[in-house]
Amino acid sequence: MKSRPYVAIHEVIAKSILRKQKKIESWFLSSYGMNLYRGCAHNCVYCDGRSEKYQVDGEFGCDVTVKINAVDVLRRELERIKKRSPQPSGYIMVGGGVGDSYQPVEQTYQLTRKTLKLLSDHEFPIHILTKSILVQRDIDLITTINKKRKALVSFSFSTVDDTISERLEPGVPPPSKRLETIATLTDAGIPCGIFLLPIIPFISDSPQRIEESIQQAKKHGVEFIVFGGMTLKEGKQKDYFYALLEQYYPELLTEYNIIYRGDTWGNATKEYYDSIRRTFDLLRKKYHMPCRIPPHLYDDLVTENDRVIVILEHIDYLLKLQRRKSPYGYAAYSISRLSTPLSSMTGDLQQIKGVGRVTERLIREILTTGRCSYYETLLFGR
Ligand code: SF4
Repeated sequence: MKSRPYVAIHEVIAKSILRKQKKIESWFLSSYGMNLYRGCAHNCVYCDGRSEKYQVDGEFGCDVTVKINAVDVLRRELERIKKRSPQPSGYIMVGGGVGDSYQPVEQTYQLTRKTLKLLSDHEFPIHILTKSILVQRDIDLITTINKKRKALVSFSFSTVDDTISERLEPGVPPPSKRLETIATLTDAGIPCGIFLLPIIPFISDSPQRIEESIQQAKKHGVEFIVFGGMTLKEGKQKDYFYALLEQYYPELLTEYNIIYRGDTWGNATKEYYDSIRRTFDLLRKKYHMPCRIPPHLYDDLVTENDRVIVILEHIDYLLKLQRRKSPYGYAAYSISRLSTPLSSMTGDLQQIKGVGRVTERLIREILTTGRCSYYETLLFGR
């Protein structure tokens, strides 16, 4: 299966660029996101942007929409935000969603570069998520933003094996090149992470392959790896992926039918996800690799409530990895509904729904020291 040689570009006038999130996003540490392109010529065979759910115009991988007025719209939005108090907590997320900000069309339009310049002028911290080595072109701007506030660059991988990637990700540079770019960025003092996501069942999910990914990440200076399994929604996404299986891995069709049973969200069975998460968790502990963005990469960017929310959500994830019960996700959600800073609340924090005695103790430690020793033990696998 090869990427189509021709990509049709559709220019549109956008009404808005920034997308405000309801609460801080603890995977990305962002409170705003933005996409300058819709659709993606990288055309990864597993991309869920292909699913009908996202209503991307045209044929995914062949049609790309460009928001040609993005810079003017973003300038107005940033100026408005700059006048507000308090300022946004966390990063502004550049990319992700249903289009890579550094896909080939960026070479022509340079919208990502121009918007980074704006974000730099207005001194907003940024978190870029991409699969492209074109990000290296903007190392000057990213370095400047990193010095003024903070910049974080994350790369997504489904494997670090170049041969497998050539089949699954026909439009992106091989993982070996992405790893070289990570080394270049980290050498320039820009922190980098990996979203090892999605891991492809029976193709890139063996303990050996996962360990190889962690080793390579470590070797190239990556500071964290966020891990996740693949979803396959019924319809275009699943049909496209199955065509690849029939071509290259026909012997795997039966196993795929066992784990993908038509779930509404495209999820594989819980047993399958649990098994790969456990494998990853054991291996990442062996290498002391955090599986969420560690606090030193966002410490000075978030409000105290958001710091508590993020840490509690991370603890919730880490405990569930170990198949343990956790009250922390619910407590984090309740705190996200508060309009007052936790430190200004008088009396008992147990009046907040989901906050019990132990959770209150953790929150107080975070409020007093900015840290949580229980969390750090879980996160760094010490
Ligand atoms: S780079 Fe990301 S958005 Fe683009 S096709 Fe691949 S998975 Fe989808």
